[in-house]
Amino acid sequence: MNLLVFAFIPLILSLGIIPALQSEIIPNADAIKAKGNSLTETNSKKVCGDRLCSEISETQNDSPPMIIKSEKKLFASTIDYTVTGPEIDPEKGYAVIEIGDGLYWLTDGMYQLMFLTTGEGVILVDAPMGMGTKIQQAISDVTSEKVTHFIYSHIHKDHVGSASLLPKDTVYISHIDTAEHLKMKNDPQRPVPTVTFHDNFTLMVGDQFLELSYLGPFHSKGDIVIYSPSHKVIMAVDLFHPNAAPFQFMGITRDVGEHLAVHDKLLAMDWEVIVSGHEPILGTPEHLKFNKEFTLAVLDNAITAIQTTQPSANYFGDLANKCAELTVEQYSDLKDIEVYPVENCVTMVFYAMID
Ligand SMILES: [Zn+2]
Repeated sequence: MNLLVFAFIPLILSLGIIPALQSEIIPNADAIKAKGNSLTETNSKKVCGDRLCSEISETQNDSPPMIIKSEKKLFASTIDYTVTGPEIDPEKGYAVIEIGDGLYWLTDGMYQLMFLTTGEGVILVDAPMGMGTKIQQAISDVTSEKVTHFIYSHIHKDHVGSASLLPKDTVYISHIDTAEHLKMKNDPQRPVPTVTFHDNFTLMVGDQFLELSYLGPFHSKGDIVIYSPSHKVIMAVDLFHPNAAPFQFMGITRDVGEHLAVHDKLLAMDWEVIVSGHEPILGTPEHLKFNKEFTLAVLDNAITAIQTTQPSANYFGDLANKCAELTVEQYSDLKDIEVYPVENCVTMVFYAMID
């Protein structure tokens, strides 16, 4: 809590916010504590669902990324897809494109994922719920190899809810936090990963390799970035929308500080194309840089709103509305700017005031 919050405490009290919070939130918190939850600490042992987290099978590979030589390259024509998306075959409902040697981008125009052929099986990263059986259909369009390895970019079902449709002996890989969450959820659509890591993991299959890294929870829980240094392609899902305004609440960001920090960490890496999980196009470092600038501009607008808005019964609503008005005016040409300006400002107002 910063000093600014203390300045607002009399206002918060006078508006009756604290009693409202007490009646709304505290009973719920007590109820949750009484019930216990999946991540309760018990005698310093972390509990995941019905067992200790330590009992979840774990394979560590947290050594620094290896330097591996590879002849695999990104195709020059791929850069065209950072401007205009591919045509989606209306019969099939997807486009599957080889964007580099053995590296494929699959999109239905709204969701996107990638997979690699290795000579020894396919490595698939994400399986959006809405794409279902189209994923394996698209893979069989371009290779006779079967999926042998599946990587969870993060926990969210809309991006990974078709993970259970893969061959039975598929190896599921994720960050440890994703595995703990999926164990707790016990969701048949999202099989619990058997290979997990904390910081870094290098996956080598056949003639391909990927570096998986945990750079902080930029969006949800267990968010990782998936990097092919040889292709100069990176995948970070739900961090941002290339060439468009963010999804609501700054991409449902839990921690704006982590969210911004991961922008910087990715911009310091060597890649040309990013698979963002959404939009009809691939992203570039310029798109990511723009999103960081946009996020900081919304923060500025939130601060301006805090400095210029008079107290009222709907003070927080007024702050978000003022910030949204400034943002829409400033970025009137940006795709989807008018979809969630208030929600995005709510996140930044709270970040500016109390984070
Ligand atoms: Zn998500």
